Amino acid sequence: MEWFREVNAADELRGPGVPLEELPGFIAGRLAVERAWRLLDDPSAPGALTESRTGLRSALALLPQSRPDQLCYEERWRSRRRYGGESLVCSRPTCGRCLPLKAALEHGSPVA
Ligand SMILES: [Zn+2]
Repeated sequence: MEWFREVNAADELRGPGVPLEELPGFIAGRLAVERAWRLLDDPSAPGALTESRTGLRSALALLPQSRPDQLCYEERWRSRRRYGGESLVCSRPTCGRCLPLKAALEHGSPVA
């Protein structure tokens, strides 16, 4: 598909955006994992396991994926067809492609 090749080539020229370790979702997700991990020091403490599991689920909702979200291309493709313009980023909350680009755009980097 021509569009697919075009957007991937543009991504290569553009670069990945803000480094993963600087993303707010990465920082907050890592803190949630560390807290969940500490709770497992004493799993028999009241509520420790439950809180740890809850924390891990929260972390998964925050941590960026290592690659584009499963629906990233589809959403950008649909947006292009529906609105006529090119959608640079998707709205998936942990998309490994778009989160770094959004962060770079918010910092005023010349990404687009
Ligand atoms: Zn995306």
